[in-house]
Amino acid sequence: MDVLNFINGAFCPPADGMWLDNTDPATGAVYGRIADSCADDLSRAVAAAKAAFPAWSALAPAQRAQPLRRMADLIEVRMEEFARAESRDNGKPVALARAMDIPRAAANLRAYADAIIDTVDGVSANDRSESIIVRQPLGVVATISPWNLPLLLFTWKLAPALAAGNCVIAKPSEVTPATAFMLAELANEAGFPPGVLNILHGRGAKIGAAITAHPDIAAISFTGGTQTGTAIYSAAAPQLKKVSLELGGKNPTIVFDDADFDAAVAGAATAAFANQGQICLCGSRLFVQRGIYERFRAAFVEKAQAIAIGDPLDDGTQHGAMVSKDHMEKVLSYIALAQAEGGTVLSGGKRRLLNGRCAEGYFIEPTVIEGLPQACRTNSEEIFGPVVALIPFDTEDEAIAMANATEYGLAASVWSVDDARAQRVAAQIDSGIVWINCWNLRDLHTPFGGFKKSGVGREGIFDSLTFFTQPKTITRPRKAA
Ligand code: NAD
Repeated sequence: MDVLNFINGAFCPPADGMWLDNTDPATGAVYGRIADSCADDLSRAVAAAKAAFPAWSALAPAQRAQPLRRMADLIEVRMEEFARAESRDNGKPVALARAMDIPRAAANLRAYADAIIDTVDGVSANDRSESIIVRQPLGVVATISPWNLPLLLFTWKLAPALAAGNCVIAKPSEVTPATAFMLAELANEAGFPPGVLNILHGRGAKIGAAITAHPDIAAISFTGGTQTGTAIYSAAAPQLKKVSLELGGKNPTIVFDDADFDAAVAGAATAAFANQGQICLCGSRLFVQRGIYERFRAAFVEKAQAIAIGDPLDDGTQHGAMVSKDHMEKVLSYIALAQAEGGTVLSGGKRRLLNGRCAEGYFIEPTVIEGLPQACRTNSEEIFGPVVALIPFDTEDEAIAMANATEYGLAASVWSVDDARAQRVAAQIDSGIVWINCWNLRDLHTPFGGFKKSGVGREGIFDSLTFFTQPKTITRPRKAA
């Protein structure tokens, strides 16, 4: 399988003939090539996008909504194919791709198709003037997305950009390009005019950096690591580009003595290990109140050990492969660091070797660590793997202080049946989202994003449409009645 670029409505190989390997992380085998795009590919994509912009942006919102909706329908027609491709490319269980990633990609497209139709321009009037406020698209914009939720995050950015009337240069992660490539196959059938959506594959340091630096790209919507986000922010600054950054997290899960015990154990385990711990929202620091600590620890370890590790393409698998060999080794190095920092591994802690097709795959057991000091690298740095630190606490204030003691501030979850307490704690946690007695329950209308080093800006129906447009106020004197 050759993952080709999609420029001006047509598939094309990279202009300089450079390719990357595409690896199946569950087997370690290379199963295809990925275009490693260069500046020439970008020039062609930007030229196509600029040419398409006047007609696309002039369409009524209802007309722009149509191809978005058709693309969502076409994804659903090919749901199984997309889910299996996502699973093979990323290592995630096919059941998860089927339940979350691919349906959510379709939902993203529909949500913005609906939202753009409902968007009305503003008006303002006083005794001297009357104004209309129109929100206009920015022109050619770029999206750069990561590997952990490949199609979900790719469409989460594309949909508002396109709905708002922009033409897009979209760069998926070079680690998981398959479903973005498949989406390009749907673009013409869905009715997007050539040049409206262009997809460039390749390495961040090469094509990603070229996109960031391109003078004709007005805005960059980025999701990925904090270090990359910082580089993009500085590279975009001299040109005053609009930038939205969704970055890393080191999220706390806080369980109080009075929590619904079984729900909290299950919720904390999902928060720690979903998608092999490779979700920016994963709860990697698990604070448990002293009164239930021992009982919770036993139940949590039992839960972690019951998670079915296996071939991501098997329906029964709950825990698949890490996305790449490099990433597996990075996560294993953090487990070694945790032990060096005084932690005890209560469960997992090792690479899991499977038999058969996945014998060479990059699997890591769900890992529970206890006994780490609060201030250590394991509890401060984003590991982005199936590794969680258990930490006891006594008081509400202590839990809040420890939860906030990182550079990140993306998400948190609080488990207690005392709603007043849960609300009180939520109000004091420095993060963009706090879940009470749940985790990763998303309403696409709500703002999503991070405090501190977890990001700049927010995504969501209102926020993303705001990001991908700029308001223009047109004022005239008010006529006397
Ligand atoms: P990454 O930062 O390595 O890469 C993300 C994207 O940026 C990729 O497409 C990559 O090719 C590109 N890129 C890399 N260097 C670049 C550069 N210099 N210029 C332009 N583009 C460049 O992140 P990753 O490893 O793919 O993803 C994991 C990270 O993403 C984690 O830190 C995770 O927390 C974060 N993440 C955040 C959210 C969120 O919503 N806050 C969601 C998912 C993932």
